[in-house]
Amino acid sequence: MPRWSRERARELDTNDPLAALHDRFALADGLVYLAGNSLGALGRAVPDAVARVVAEEWGRELVAGWSGCGWMEAPARVGDKIAPLIGAEPGEVLVCDTTSVALAKLLGAALAARPGRRVILSSTDNFPSDLYAAAAVAQRAGAELRVVDRSELGAALGPDVAVCCLTQVDYRTAALFDVASVTAAAHDVGALSLWDLCHSAGVVPVGCRENGIDLAVGCGYKYLNGGPGAPSFLYVRRELHEELENPIPGWLGHDFPFDFDPAWRPASGIRRFLTSTPSVVAVAALEAALSVFEGVSIEDLRAKSVSLGQLFIETIEDLAPSLEVASPLDPCQRGSQVSLRHDEASELVTSAASKGIVGDHRPPDIARFGFSPLYLSYEEVFRAAETLAAVAASLVSSPQPSSP
Ligand SMILES: *Cc1c(COP(=O)(O)O)cnc(C)c1O
Repeated sequence: MPRWSRERARELDTNDPLAALHDRFALADGLVYLAGNSLGALGRAVPDAVARVVAEEWGRELVAGWSGCGWMEAPARVGDKIAPLIGAEPGEVLVCDTTSVALAKLLGAALAARPGRRVILSSTDNFPSDLYAAAAVAQRAGAELRVVDRSELGAALGPDVAVCCLTQVDYRTAALFDVASVTAAAHDVGALSLWDLCHSAGVVPVGCRENGIDLAVGCGYKYLNGGPGAPSFLYVRRELHEELENPIPGWLGHDFPFDFDPAWRPASGIRRFLTSTPSVVAVAALEAALSVFEGVSIEDLRAKSVSLGQLFIETIEDLAPSLEVASPLDPCQRGSQVSLRHDEASELVTSAASKGIVGDHRPPDIARFGFSPLYLSYEEVFRAAETLAAVAASLVSSPQPSSP
């Protein structure tokens, strides 16, 4: 007997405190969008907000918009809206740059702040872009990027490590690091901790302050729904603001940008980590997208995300024996996506998409399905699992093309 049915899923929808948020997104009827871990869906508030900034602020205020429309304050103002989602305080988060650039900046700052230590420690399964940036930053600082299997991290943490740089949720499998214990272990050897929160922000509690996290970066366009190429965010623990130097200083991070002082004098607080002029239109899209999170707790989002994932996994287990769940089965060890392993993962994803179930494929054999608790219903996720089971059955039974 399968554990789930459409009726049981609908029952959860009836009692779901977040159910009404679905209507705040512009998603086509019948589409089950499970790629929000890659590019979040469009919030209905976003097009008008962007149109208003373009027509009324840029169009009418022109250059006066910098002082009259809050453009200069946007990086910190929107950062403050992300702060509660990652357990940070106001004044600790900025919206700027892109994740890889923000990561490179904070790694450079961390290495410079720990001159006696010449190692950036990371894990082999970290996101490749993070490893590229970390290797280059290390090399230029006369340091070394040490990349080890995640099971070896404890042993690799030593007195030579300046910063331990990891991604909380693995982009491929959704395996979740225990941020509290890894951060504590880094601190025990005197290293700083830097977390990439791309697959955490908006779905998994991080507890930046609670866990004493030093530095973090994350993406605006995944579960935060800021739109394609939305700016990233960076977090620096308040106590480190004065100690750390921005390795790419720019005028927006200067104490007085409009003094045009030839000498660099960093602003106090988080603003010193800004480099350049904010992308006003893109930040406006992200700000409007974040309005959906107002009054919603990260704990409620996490609870629903876990339940959606369990429903999906149990239905796949019951209906699709040819699909292997590649994500941790224990929800405490899993982020907000479920990955399935299949030799024909690419065909699986393409065929499911043609039936309105949108996920994505990571080579060679992973099909990923992300669960945004803001806009997905239990019934939709049940339907997605049912459809994937039917597609998988057809892949198993269809004859393989014979090789020449
Ligand atoms: C999506 C993602 C990024 C994105 O990097 P950009 O430089 O903003 O394109 C970085 N790290 C991880 C872990 C990601 O999943």
